[in-house]
Amino acid sequence: MTDLDSLRRQLPVGIVVTDPDTVEGYRRDSSDLLHPGSPLAVLRPTSALQVSTIMKWATATSTVVVPRGAGTGASGGATALDGCVIVSLEKMTAIRDVDIANQIVVVEPGVVNADVGRAVAEHGLFYPPDPGSFEISTIGGNLATNAGGMRCVKYGVTRNSVLGLEVVLPDGRILCTGGRTVKNVAGLDLTHLFVGSEGALGIITSATLRLRPRPSGTATFVASFPDLESGGRGLNAIFASGATPSILELMDCATINMVEDYRRMDLDRDADLLIIGQADGDAALPEAEAMAAICEAMGADLAMATDDIAESEMFIQARRLAGWAAMAQGPTVSEDVCVPRTRLVELLEQIHDISTETRIRIATVGHAGDGNVHPILLLTDLDDEDEQARAMDAVARICAAALALGGTITGEHGVGELKLPWLEQQVGRTSLDVQASIKRALDPLSIMNPGRGF
Ligand SMILES: Cc1cc2nc3c(=O)[nH]c(=O)nc-3n(C[C@H](O)[C@H](O)[C@H](O)COP(=O)(O)OP(=O)(O)OC[C@H]3O[C@@H](n4cnc5c(N)ncnc54)[C@H](O)[C@@H]3O)c2cc1C
Repeated sequence: MTDLDSLRRQLPVGIVVTDPDTVEGYRRDSSDLLHPGSPLAVLRPTSALQVSTIMKWATATSTVVVPRGAGTGASGGATALDGCVIVSLEKMTAIRDVDIANQIVVVEPGVVNADVGRAVAEHGLFYPPDPGSFEISTIGGNLATNAGGMRCVKYGVTRNSVLGLEVVLPDGRILCTGGRTVKNVAGLDLTHLFVGSEGALGIITSATLRLRPRPSGTATFVASFPDLESGGRGLNAIFASGATPSILELMDCATINMVEDYRRMDLDRDADLLIIGQADGDAALPEAEAMAAICEAMGADLAMATDDIAESEMFIQARRLAGWAAMAQGPTVSEDVCVPRTRLVELLEQIHDISTETRIRIATVGHAGDGNVHPILLLTDLDDEDEQARAMDAVARICAAALALGGTITGEHGVGELKLPWLEQQVGRTSLDVQASIKRALDPLSIMNPGRGF
């Protein structure tokens, strides 16, 4: 009897999948540069107890486990390793509790981010973290990568919306962290240890998430700048003004044109930088108008604000389309470096130089309010080794540029496998040693997503 047969006997029929065509669909995430391994099987548990059975079996047989949500990750964290089992949480999609008075929702890890928002909207509440993949990525994946999104500039990243977790540890024990209270300082903060741990410490099987009251209104502004310098002045003046945008995004010229080629949105194809922002609350329109006026004073060719819902949605949609427009044109590598936000334009200028020097087309879009940008490398052929080498060189140079500007190699996608070579340069040896000690304490056999995250 093989090891897999012994697992099969412990689980209901259909959880262990070995059909090669099905397994093939689980080998990659959205990081096109990495080469995935060949898994033994895909496991699709429906409960934490089944996950616990799987982890006990994995420990007994020293089998490597790669947890997986929707596979939209951009750093290779969910790509298959040779001989691993992929544990897909896609069947665990229950929204267990919507607690309106305490503004809490308890969900299983396979729930898609947007479904949480839809489930609580009728109660006048919303779940703030909104990665660009919010219609397809899962809460488990969002938690494991500490995902960001457009609304983070005002409402924080995923970590800021988590109160408690249920996690199955590598040895199969089920750990509950945190709780349903907004304040909780009992013991070490294990909840936030697992947020952003990229599947390398355990499998998240349930989460207690914090909701917020839906703002009374929103207003949107857009400003297009003829050059990066004036765009940088506009952004810095908004930061200095004390404004509290609920969204503050940017698109460079290459992104504007890529989106326009994908779907006509009537954006200014000649602009070097487009800023799209939003304010929310009772004073949304005057706040958006004030930010548009700042941009105009700093040299924007065109700046306008609106509280018309359809018009606002059109501008936000144009920004959201960037990732899809990039993926539609061929293989991509979506970078996510982050710098102190006043140094954004220096970073953008260096990315343009890197694009020229490596001969890799790069379209940059991102969360200007957080200093977090996505230089998207637009590739032509994944079998072209020369292009691959130039793309890796571009990634290395972008990471180096961000670090030199006082930033980080990853603002929201996570280290995964792709960013591992640059992690020590950012955090230092002592930090890596501490992280390895934590890993050893929880996962002494190193079966949980080894070589990913840290
Ligand atoms: C078009 C597009 C736009 C995007 N925009 C953004 C954005 O704005 N912000 C952002 O942060 N990211 C963005 N991403 C990246 C990606 O969507 C996020 O990283 C997302 O959080 C991954 O979720 P997933 O369910 O796809 O997880 P996966 O890709 O399946 O997994 C990601 C990591 O989490 C681990 N994992 C998954 N589920 C669990 C679990 N239950 N327990 C433990 N570990 C687990 C995996 O092992 C892996 O390391 C975008 C991706 C795309 C394709």
